Amino acid sequence: MTAGALVGIIVGVAIFLLFCIWFLGRGGTPSTPKPKAGQRVCGGCQRVMLPAWTKCLFCGWAPAARLEFILGPMANQVLVLAEEVTTIGSVAGNTVVLADPAVSRKHAGIRKVESNYELADFGSTNGVYVNGQKVPKKTLEPGDIIRVGNTEAVFKRE
Ligand SMILES: [Zn+2]
Repeated sequence: MTAGALVGIIVGVAIFLLFCIWFLGRGGTPSTPKPKAGQRVCGGCQRVMLPAWTKCLFCGWAPAARLEFILGPMANQVLVLAEEVTTIGSVAGNTVVLADPAVSRKHAGIRKVESNYELADFGSTNGVYVNGQKVPKKTLEPGDIIRVGNTEAVFKRE
């Protein structure tokens, strides 16, 4: 065997080993997609969620909803809708207590129904408005502006 053939074999084996190291170094789970910028990722199973999904179709996880208060005594505060039912009224015992003469004692409530949030007027004197319309009941959409008395809040989801 010539020296040239020996060098050729050594170089060949070295390239093969480097290729093996590179291949293994890529990780054992090449099927896991990396989320791109702007994509939503499930908080439960970390898989990429399509924009149309209100909840993860893989594991059922749904993003938390929140109210961002923009007017009234709660202005600039954020309430995460963590409970099954969130109540709004002027007396203690409500989730959101608004010291406002235009707010009834038990004015309105937001109930979590599966992955949606339903706003309901509890028979208040002055009513509940969503985007300027008086509503007895409404399934909230992201961006809806809720008005109760002198308080306004924006319904948002992550
Ligand atoms: Zn999931």
